[in-house]
Parts: sequence; C-alpha cells; structure tokens
Amino acid sequence: MNQTCPWSIVQQTAFMRLALVEATNAMEQGDLPIGAVVVNDDTVIARGRNRRETEHFLSHAEVDAIRSMPAASVSRRRTAIFCTLEPCYLCLGAILAARIGHIFFAAPDLLSGCRQIASLGSYSRTRVLTITAGLLARESVSLLYRHSPERCKVLFQENFNDYRRLLADEPGIRDRQ
Ligand SMILES: [Zn+2]
Repeated sequence: MNQTCPWSIVQQTAFMRLALVEATNAMEQGDLPIGAVVVNDDTVIARGRNRRETEHFLSHAEVDAIRSMPAASVSRRRTAIFCTLEPCYLCLGAILAARIGHIFFAAPDLLSGCRQIASLGSYSRTRVLTITAGLLARESVSLLYRHSPERCKVLFQENFNDYRRLLADEPGIRDRQ
C-alpha cells in the first residue's frame, strides 16, 4: 500500500467483528458461515451474509452486501469491504464494479480465493485496490470448522492441518478431529 490506511487496526477489527456476526447469522440460517460488511470512512453502509444454500448459488456474502449498498462508491480510497473469507472471483468482480478500493479478509480460500488474479489486472497497476489478509482469521476459521470440517479441507488445502492444530484447544473442536 502506497498510502496510509484510512482505518486504524481498532476500526478494522471492529468492522471484521461485524462481518463475523453476519457469518454467524448465515450459519444459523443453514449456510456456510461467511459474512461481509462494506464501510465508507467510519460508517457501515452495507451488510451481507452467505445465502448460497438458502437463496441462490450466486448469493455470496460479498454480493449480498454490495447489492444492499445505496450506490456504487464515489471514492474507492475511502470504501472497504470486510469479508470473513477471502472473496472468490465472482465477488472480486462485484467489488470492483462497486468501486470498493480495499479488501480486508479473515480466512484464506486456497481453492477459489481472488488474491492471485487480483494481482494480474490493470487495477493493481493503478493501485486502486488493496488487499489485507488475516484479520481475525482464527475466529473465522473456528466458525467454518464448527460448521463443516469437510468444507475446511477444501478451503484451506495444504494448510488444513495447521488450522486444525490452531483450533485444537477450543472447546467443542477437539472432539471433532
Ligand atoms: Zn464469492
């Protein structure tokens, strides 16, 4: 990032916690626990949760949040999306279309995460998109693991055992290994 991040670590953590609330809501509705919030400066302007199982296969948390934004952002630099799981290619497209300039995500998606392709496009050369990984990753992984250890194997690929070890001391996790 070639400029000062507009959000302090305290703000980033608070916004990611709101995304985790959305992820929990998704899980309670029977979907994989993934949530997202969109912020402009210090204001939350949209919230979304994964509705793939219960609504439509394109209803990813990020798309769900972006669809409830009042309009596309007028300032990429001051608009961010906080996602509990690394956005996929579909969601990266939606994020760019919404003129969101910053992506913060918690857990990585090593199967279909957008980090690799995000570095290929012309937008990365013009530096209008920044991606920050790992904020509250443990909390997000814990939710995903509680919901579906099998799905976590797919999401985390060769890092699966590292995450499983990370969570080994959490109540309710050990007995599911
Ligand atoms: Zn997606």
